[in-house]
Amino acid sequence: MSYKAEYIWIDGQEPTAKLRSKGKIVPDGEEPPIWGFDGSSTSQAPGEASDCVLNPVFVCPDPVRGGNNKLVMCEVLLTDMTPHPSNTRAACAAADEKYRSFDTWFGIEQEYTFFKGARPLGFPENGFPPPQGGYYCGVGIDEVFGRPVVEEHMDACLTAGLEISGINGEVMPGQWEFQIGPLATPAVGDHLWLARWLLYRISEEHEITATLDPKPVRGDWNGAGAHHNFSTNKMRDSYDACVAAAEALGANHDAHIVNYGHRIEERLTGLHETCAYTEFRYGVSDRGASVRIPWQVARDGKGYIEDRRPNANVDPYVATRLIVETVCGAASA
Ligand code: ADP
Ligand code: MN
Ligand code: MN
Ligand code: MN
Repeated sequence: MSYKAEYIWIDGQEPTAKLRSKGKIVPDGEEPPIWGFDGSSTSQAPGEASDCVLNPVFVCPDPVRGGNNKLVMCEVLLTDMTPHPSNTRAACAAADEKYRSFDTWFGIEQEYTFFKGARPLGFPENGFPPPQGGYYCGVGIDEVFGRPVVEEHMDACLTAGLEISGINGEVMPGQWEFQIGPLATPAVGDHLWLARWLLYRISEEHEITATLDPKPVRGDWNGAGAHHNFSTNKMRDSYDACVAAAEALGANHDAHIVNYGHRIEERLTGLHETCAYTEFRYGVSDRGASVRIPWQVARDGKGYIEDRRPNANVDPYVATRLIVETVCGAASA
């Protein structure tokens, strides 16, 4: 007997990479082996030297196919088994290794938008729906669009063993959020990329699409972000360490902004619960800040901080690496 293993990887498309997958039949009792693919079709290799290597980094049950079948999250290697230039996970794992003594945790809030054809789900064929106000965490068919897909996706994540911690309806019609974590990095990136793949895959069954576009509708409609909630062992013990982390992020603002997702300037305008990308500000409970310190953290005098800047289309391997390097680097200096 054998099982089906769906190998999932991140391609080389720029400026925003996307997910690819293909299936392999593996004999029962065997782990999914190293595999390969045609990198010339994924912006990862020239045609005359097209082979790239798929190295499994996280294997879990496949909630779509069920049975013994598996999902296999992979990193891409060159044929000499070194990381491919498009492989952002390797540097993330190296940063985690270097700062292992900080025991970092991440909880990532992934916002996204369902589309039916060229319009967000819930938008009428012509014109616009009533303005924002009632949609966030709403109930009823005048406010909620796509709930069956959201429920199925949450169940699929649980069946796969992903660390999903919640879901909610968002501010714009057809816009939703799920949260992954808290987890260490690069595991949080592995789980988030797989949860994204499941979202796209399950949306197929419902004949809609899901997009991580950071500003799916221009004008007075919220963009889509991926807030990164972050703590070290010291932050979970001390408020001063939380403030020091926010200060360190502020001192390195520009380097983070350019790596927090394509078209970040369209989303971080200073409106719609964002701080302009040209500024850095942190504050308690402040949803107009770049970094928010949750009120419970200020009350308890310990906990975590929320980096509100990353776009929905951010690569979590890149953002979590940068946060670890900036915050743990400053604390080690
Ligand atoms: P918001 O109020 O910003 O919408 P959410 O409830 O959507 O917040 O997400 C908060 C996230 O923070 C969750 O993913 C949760 O797992 C994560 N989190 C909670 N405590 C910590 C911590 N100490 N370190 C890192 N992440 C944390
Ligand atoms: Mn949230
Ligand atoms: Mn949100
Ligand atoms: Mn948030």
